[in-house]
Amino acid sequence: MARAARLLPALAALLAAAATGDARPSKIAVVGAGVGGSAVAHFLQQHFGPRVQIDVFEKGTVGGRLATISVNKQHYESGAASLHSLSLHMQDFVKQLGLRHRREVGGRSAIFNGESLVLEETDWYLLNLFRLWWHYGISFLRLQLWVEEVMEKFMRIYKYQAHGYAFSGVEELLYSLGEAAFINMSRRSVAESLLRVGVSQRFIDDVVSAVLRASYGQSAAMPAFAGAMSLAGAQGSLWSVEGGNKLVCSGLLKLTKANVIHATVTSVTLQQTDGKPLYQVWYENEAGVGSDYYDIVVIATPLHPDSGSSITFGGFDPPIAVAQGPFQPTVVSLVHGYLNSSYFGFPDPKLFPFATILTTDFPSFFLALDNLCPVNVSASFRRRQPQEAAVWRVRSPQPLLRSQLKTLFRSYYSVQTAEWQAHPVHSPHGPLPRFMLHDQLFHLNALEWAASSVEVTAVAAKNVALLAFNRWYQDLDKIDQKDLMHKVKTEL
Ligand SMILES: Cc1cc2nc3c(=O)[nH]c(=O)nc-3n(C[C@H](O)[C@H](O)[C@H](O)COP(=O)(O)OP(=O)(O)OC[C@H]3O[C@@H](n4cnc5c(N)ncnc54)[C@H](O)[C@@H]3O)c2cc1C
Repeated sequence: MARAARLLPALAALLAAAATGDARPSKIAVVGAGVGGSAVAHFLQQHFGPRVQIDVFEKGTVGGRLATISVNKQHYESGAASLHSLSLHMQDFVKQLGLRHRREVGGRSAIFNGESLVLEETDWYLLNLFRLWWHYGISFLRLQLWVEEVMEKFMRIYKYQAHGYAFSGVEELLYSLGEAAFINMSRRSVAESLLRVGVSQRFIDDVVSAVLRASYGQSAAMPAFAGAMSLAGAQGSLWSVEGGNKLVCSGLLKLTKANVIHATVTSVTLQQTDGKPLYQVWYENEAGVGSDYYDIVVIATPLHPDSGSSITFGGFDPPIAVAQGPFQPTVVSLVHGYLNSSYFGFPDPKLFPFATILTTDFPSFFLALDNLCPVNVSASFRRRQPQEAAVWRVRSPQPLLRSQLKTLFRSYYSVQTAEWQAHPVHSPHGPLPRFMLHDQLFHLNALEWAASSVEVTAVAAKNVALLAFNRWYQDLDKIDQKDLMHKVKTEL
């Protein structure tokens, strides 16, 4: 079944090439080798075939926001750490690359409001349900139904993509999945949407806010669509890749035999030949300044002003203006040391039973705290107890001060940090950008402005590859189609 799904794009490429006298693109440029760039290189090759040269430009490290840090001779995730079980593209990559899921090591969570723990998970599923019901009535059931409905509709994208359909803008994509309701969810806040379906304000303040802070560093004022995708992560089972999530990126680039060029792309300028666009990509590295010509260009990195991407576009009429808001700075500190459990109300560290602490919207210097497992988990591995030195991951909006580290830890051996522009600052008033910047120039990260996660990026990568393919062969019926659910059913 999976093999057949992989053969379909190649067959479609052959048929399209035969119909057009094999006018395939000769060269494609991808800017960025994070999960978006690696996945789009892979999908583009699946669609256009192995004879097309794909150059992937990377100014930093392959993996981008999928990265690890070494502490005490072990590697730990310092960027995106966990994936939802319904991440179908990521699941498929892992299978194709012969990678494995990391062994699950259980751990309990609690929510801290600055003074006490407002909610504590137990080892007993029924007791957890009872506690939720006791504190918040049926709000948690209402939340679950709301998230499930959003996820069910979002999953339609895999069917559309399997049938070759693509979207030129985020608005068109969202509309095809959930019609006006999804567009409204990108304009309305999480809090407003949940109150409408009967979730209590207290549940939003205590639980929903804590999950949103931990995943996005943002509050329940963020748009409902992005919020629902993040809350789905809190409900479903999570997984990660044995050896590190970034292995997916290096694996896909190797599988694709993409030509990885370590350089910073500075600009893309439009040149025309025989009425067809040709893009000149300018880049620089220690060897100097260079440029090359491409039929198709995919920008697979955020383009907001603080992203450091600083790519300019020249020769386009009308000019290309990617107006996007700011990103959320997030600092990940990996602290090897002894947790100060007294701060959370447990003077005896042996009695502190939690592996994860989430925080509510109180003015706090940290967003979440996790007792980490390394990316390679042996069969004999066990999570360190709080009375032992362990590796803790602290997420905070700013670098932690010494006094803040002293608040969270009794003592520590080392602190290593990674500073990220983690996610867009999702705003209900923000624009819904377009994937298509020009005829064959695309921006994959447009979808991040609706929701930002590894799997959403992989979905955007597949969409951009299909968009490029359908546009190249002028299969315009496969772009921005409405009523796709009905069409897809009748095509089956
Ligand atoms: C701390 C943190 C925790 C997260 N947790 C999760 C999680 O648990 N689950 C989840 O699903 N998601 C999580 N995310 C989000 C997830 O990591 C991102 O949505 C996803 O990795 C984005 O991938 P990308 O390829 O689009 O962008 P990036 O990973 O940012 O890749 C862009 C690449 O482009 C390169 N680049 C930029 N400009 C240029 C240029 N001019 N020339 C050449 N190269 C350039 C960059 O160096 C980078 O490697 C987290 C993110 C962070 C930072």
